[in-house]
Amino acid sequence: MTSETITSVFSEAIASAIPESSLTVSQWAATYRFLSAERSARPGRWRNELAPYLVEIMDTVGKPGIREIILVASAQVGKTECCNNILGFFMHADPSPIIFVAETEDKAEAWSKESLAPMIRDTPVLANLVGDARSRDSNNTIGGKSFPGGHLAIAHATSPATLSSRPRRVVILDERDAFKTTSEGDPAKLAEKRATTFEDAVIVKVSTPRDRLELEPGAPPDARRFTAIELEYENSDQRKYFVPCPHCGVYQSLAWARVKWDSEETAGDAYYVCESGCVIEHEHKTEMLARGEWRAAKPFTGRAGFFINEIYSPFVSWGAMALNFLEAKKNQATLKVFVNTSLGEGWESITQQASTEDLEGRREEYEAEVPDGVLVIVAGADVQGDRIETEIVGIGLDGETWSLDYQVLVGDPSQRQVWEDLKHLWTTPFTRADGSEVCVMAAAVDSGGHHTQEVYRFCRENAGRRWYSVKGANTPGKPIISKPSLQGRPPVRLFTVGTETAKDTIAANLLVEEPGPGYCHFPVARGDDYFKQLRSERPVTRYTRGVGVRKWEKIKPSARNEALDNRVYAMAACAILNPNWRKLHEAMVKKSRQAGYGAEEELQQPGRKPAANTPPPQSFVGRGRGPNSFTNGWR
Ligand SMILES: [Zn+2]
Repeated sequence: MTSETITSVFSEAIASAIPESSLTVSQWAATYRFLSAERSARPGRWRNELAPYLVEIMDTVGKPGIREIILVASAQVGKTECCNNILGFFMHADPSPIIFVAETEDKAEAWSKESLAPMIRDTPVLANLVGDARSRDSNNTIGGKSFPGGHLAIAHATSPATLSSRPRRVVILDERDAFKTTSEGDPAKLAEKRATTFEDAVIVKVSTPRDRLELEPGAPPDARRFTAIELEYENSDQRKYFVPCPHCGVYQSLAWARVKWDSEETAGDAYYVCESGCVIEHEHKTEMLARGEWRAAKPFTGRAGFFINEIYSPFVSWGAMALNFLEAKKNQATLKVFVNTSLGEGWESITQQASTEDLEGRREEYEAEVPDGVLVIVAGADVQGDRIETEIVGIGLDGETWSLDYQVLVGDPSQRQVWEDLKHLWTTPFTRADGSEVCVMAAAVDSGGHHTQEVYRFCRENAGRRWYSVKGANTPGKPIISKPSLQGRPPVRLFTVGTETAKDTIAANLLVEEPGPGYCHFPVARGDDYFKQLRSERPVTRYTRGVGVRKWEKIKPSARNEALDNRVYAMAACAILNPNWRKLHEAMVKKSRQAGYGAEEELQQPGRKPAANTPPPQSFVGRGRGPNSFTNGWR
């Protein structure tokens, strides 16, 4: 016998001598759980040492007096495998009726096939319990798994029917913040009801936070906003993971504001500044995590709450987070993703808006038809019953925009003439200060309103010019552009535009008060009516059975909003075009140098903040402590 075989025989003998139900979840995982190759960079036996903060979360399950476990978590911290270990434990060591609830049917199916099935396949004690899926055994399906002493039902929040099954001792709600209210109310509450008959029920609620909605009418105006999972955590004992500084030994919970970098070029080497000022490098993280401990902020009352985010992740360095942040902060949609999935925090969409008067006051004289900051020219068009309206927008680095033209082309869109006028407008070049000419590089035409077939025909005939048919969808959180479908005959590509995300980004950009990233420039020629239309909508949160949904709505139902819609479509065209901004910028700099037109500085607008690639002043160079180091505040 090799020594390895002896060890394994020995550990199995010990395992068989101890009743399984006296194991904790983390002990069960260390003894029995195997990670699958397609799910993990480190397949093989589960090791609690890899993400030590998960141990207490898992071991809180099944402790006397604990009915609910709430886990607020970012991505990349191991929360899916943590839930899988809890499941495996209740299938094997303490067999129970279990319900696992995913946000949608698709997510439930994907989890069952891609996460649960590999765990069962590669963890021998589970494979022995659950019949082979290939044998057409009805006890092992995508929607459920039977095992001696229990059954696992795989449900989803969009179907009240799947949530109202038999009583369940263990209820696991995955991505709770993505649950939407149904005809029967909050799906989380429906699922929790399954456990009411069990004295020793275990309810596990896990989520990456999403939107912090506005409060219900009647709430005090200064009340804090929470997402559903954040509110659950607020009503728990609020545990955070405290780790010791490797230099001074002070225990502290980690905060994003303390992740620092000296300049954008060196953000990949970001470091952590301890509460006492020590500089901690990424290499210390493993040791800090191993010596960490959970500390509660509030007394325990039956609900254990845990918060953990990517700053603690053994799989992501602080430098990688800093680089992700610098990329994400360029627009509201990507910044929201960073705040939700990296920081594990809820997102508060802006509620205040720039005033119409303020926007009107920003009108400026451009130095040329196309100012030098413009790298790409796009257009959006909104088709009405008796006219087509279009805006042509110049876009520069980091979402800075210049409105170049706005036209109302009068004519019946069922006739060709108005389309010819639009084509003429979009193919007429603009002039830059150096005399060079540029045309619209991509455009999006709304096909969701009037004259859908004419829109398809126009875009089909001009597909080579990158003029696309689009259709708005006001689903919250939908990205600005989704994969296109084919419509009509011969087929033409139709892109769906996430109008909520686009309008959030536009509203945030309109609030930027100084030229630079996100700022919107308007020419002196733009009329007052244009600004009224840009400001014709606002986000409103409406509550049904206690669950809120936030949508953009017209402030006055009769108000015209074509200017806002056109800006949305122009943004969509730019998203489809998806240019490499850095390369375009470099090409522009080179071009102006060759023309003897000046150095890079001349591409910047007056009063602009230093470009991202400006070397940091000397005072920033020493490893920063205190006010001199670059801040990463995101609001
Ligand atoms: Zn320290």
